[in-house]
Amino acid sequence: DTALYRAKKAGPGTVCFFEQADDRLSRDRKALQSDLEGAIARNELFLVFQPFLDLGTNRITGLEALLRWQHPSRGLVPPSEFIPIAEETGLIHEIGEWVIRRACASVAEWPEDIRVAVNFSAAQFHNTGILQTIVQALADAKIAPHRLEIEITESMLLSKYGSAATVLNALLELGVTVALDDFGTGFSSLTNLRKLPFSRIKIDQSFIRDMLVQPDCAALVKSVIGLARDLRIGVVAEGVETADQLECLRQISCDEVQGYLISRPVSANGVLALLDTRKYRATYAA
Ligand code: C2E
Ligand code: MG
Ligand code: MG
Ligand code: MG
Repeated sequence: DTALYRAKKAGPGTVCFFEQADDRLSRDRKALQSDLEGAIARNELFLVFQPFLDLGTNRITGLEALLRWQHPSRGLVPPSEFIPIAEETGLIHEIGEWVIRRACASVAEWPEDIRVAVNFSAAQFHNTGILQTIVQALADAKIAPHRLEIEITESMLLSKYGSAATVLNALLELGVTVALDDFGTGFSSLTNLRKLPFSRIKIDQSFIRDMLVQPDCAALVKSVIGLARDLRIGVVAEGVETADQLECLRQISCDEVQGYLISRPVSANGVLALLDTRKYRATYAA
C-alpha cells in the first residue's frame, strides 16, 4: 500500500498527490545516507583548501581544508547537506579520520611555515580514540603538531559532550593549535574565550558581510579584534569578498583574512601555485 503502488494502480497519466512532501524529503535523506556510507571506499570524498592571508606580511600562513563529496549522480553535494547526515549516523568518525589523515598528508607537501586547519564536529570529541587518531596521523605524515590546527565552534563547548574540554586540552598539550570558528554566532561568546587557550578566533562571515553597511557591526568587529589582542589570540576574518572590507580590516589591525577576494578554495594540486607569495604581494600589498 505504498504511494508508488497506489500511483501505479491509478494508472498512467493520473496525477498523484499521495506522497507527502516530508516523506519524500526523508526518503531522499535516507538515500543520501546510504550513498554516504560507501563514499570513502568509492573515492568520492576530497578536500579543497582555502588560504589565510596575513595582513602584516601579505603572505599566506596556512590553508583550511574543506570537505567535498562528488556524488556519482547528484554531482557535488555541499558539506552543509552531508555533514549533518554523517553526524546523525555516526559516519562522521570514519569521515573525520579520513579528513585528518588527508589534511596531514597534504600539509607535509607544503613549506614548513604553512599550517593546515581542519574542521571538527562535536561528536568527534565524544570518541576518546580521536587523540590517538591525530597522534598517528601526525606521525605517519611526519609533521610537527603545530602545523595542524583544529577548528571548533562555540556550540561544541556547550554541547552534551562534556569531554570536549578534556580532549581539547590534551590536543593543546600535544602542540596542536585550536581555533574558534564562526565566532559571534553562538552563545556567551566572550566567556568561551577564557575557557580554553585558543590560538585563534575566526570572526563569522556574517559580521564581515555587514561590517561596511551597519556601523554597529564594524564596532563589534573592531572590539573583538581589540579584545583578542589583549588576550594574545590571533584573529581571522572569514568571508572577505570585497577590497573595501579588506581595507577596513587592515585599518583595524585584523591579523589574517580568508575569503573569495583572496582565493576560493582550490584543489590539492592548486595549493603550491597559490603559495607563490610574490603574486599576493603584488595584488594585496597595502
Ligand atoms: P566553515 O568552517 O565556517 O567554512 C567556511 C565556509 O565559507 C566554507 O563553505 C567556505 O567555502 C565558505 N567561504 C569562504 N570564503 C567565503 C566568502 O568569501 N564568501 C562566502 N559566501 N563564503 C565563503 P563550505 O566549504 O561549504 O563549508 C561549510 C561548512 O561545512 C564549514 O564552515 C564547516 O563548518 C563544514 N565543514 C567543511 N568541511 C568539513 C569537515 O571536513 N568536517 C566537518 N566536521 N565540517 C566541515
Ligand atoms: Mg572552518
Ligand atoms: Mg567559519
Ligand atoms: Mg561555518
